[in-house]
Amino acid sequence: MSFLVLQNIKKSFGQTQVVKDFNMSIDKGEFVSFLGPSGCGKTTVLRMIAGFESPSDGTVTINGKNQNSLKTSQRNIGMVFQAYALFPNMNVFDNVAFGLKVAGMAKPDIESRVKDMLKLIHLEHLADRYPYQMSGGQQQRVALARALAPKPQVLLLDEPLSALDAKIRVSLREEIRQIQRQLGITTVFVTHDQEEALSISDRIVVMNAGRADQIGTPSDIYNRPATRFVASFVGTLNIIEAIVSDPAANTIRIGDNLVTLREPIAALKNGDTVSIALRPEAGSMSETAKCDTMLSGKVVSSHFLGSVIRTKLDVGGSQISFDMFNSPDAALPQPGELVSLRFMAHDLLLV
Ligand code: ADP
Ligand code: MG
Repeated sequence: MSFLVLQNIKKSFGQTQVVKDFNMSIDKGEFVSFLGPSGCGKTTVLRMIAGFESPSDGTVTINGKNQNSLKTSQRNIGMVFQAYALFPNMNVFDNVAFGLKVAGMAKPDIESRVKDMLKLIHLEHLADRYPYQMSGGQQQRVALARALAPKPQVLLLDEPLSALDAKIRVSLREEIRQIQRQLGITTVFVTHDQEEALSISDRIVVMNAGRADQIGTPSDIYNRPATRFVASFVGTLNIIEAIVSDPAANTIRIGDNLVTLREPIAALKNGDTVSIALRPEAGSMSETAKCDTMLSGKVVSSHFLGSVIRTKLDVGGSQISFDMFNSPDAALPQPGELVSLRFMAHDLLLV
């Protein structure tokens, strides 16, 4: 059963509509990410769930109950923001206890609950510290504990990792996901970082200019992007301009190469231009690679990136990047070299 439902949500600030007919049903215990570029409306939707903003139109329902007329304090929602919004004048214990005190919980119950929360985030030993005495990652864990202490029915996280170093970001996102699973709490996580969204979500909503372009599992979003925007925003992507050669036979021309697509293009005409997407990891230069399609091209550049070698090819004027895994005996393709890029036709997506 859907636990958190956003139905026909719209939001305008003055003349500008920043959220346009947003619909989403989230199951109890589900972890959903809102993924999209800066300014697409992620925070605004989150703030409407929390009750900091009211929708210009549409309804927010939690556990079967319409929330529109409820204040934030009546919604029982936990929230963590990007900036460490801890109270600077309170130590860790008092920060985590804050919501419980406001709710009028008895002192011994507060003590035991705060202890449990600090255990959950592995910071029992820092109860007396003040925010300025802790790292950014530790502060965000305290912010998470503070949000979870009053047992909210929904947890909202607005880019909680954006201000942290890359390494801490990865370890903390895994910790957040693990805690979320342990508590089974329905969670909405906002991010502009596609790898973050792909790595921790049950489902992702890809947002584009106030709308949900696609809602799906990480694998759906990555492997079967519904729009060109999703295809290019999620993952690195080559967009190749091709010319329709024989629509009835699904063939197109990329440079001098004739390629047969899996998707039908019968509605197109000979000579039409089409955009084709190809992921960098789909191609290979190895002669033993499983493939049914080849493109010949000239190496433009090749870079050693550690775990992969990224090579850019010119194929009849289109630049195509592809990645191969590093190995100690891998040779860097040289600029000007003529090579064949091998891949499976089903990796070519019409976008
Ligand atoms: P995101 O979180 O995806 O970066 P936001 O939801 O913060 O995007 O903002 C979406 C758009 O709404 C932006 O263009 C932003 O400038 C505008 N916006 C957000 N809040 C307000 C406000 N209180 N008044 C006017 N415009 C706003
Ligand atoms: Mg935002």
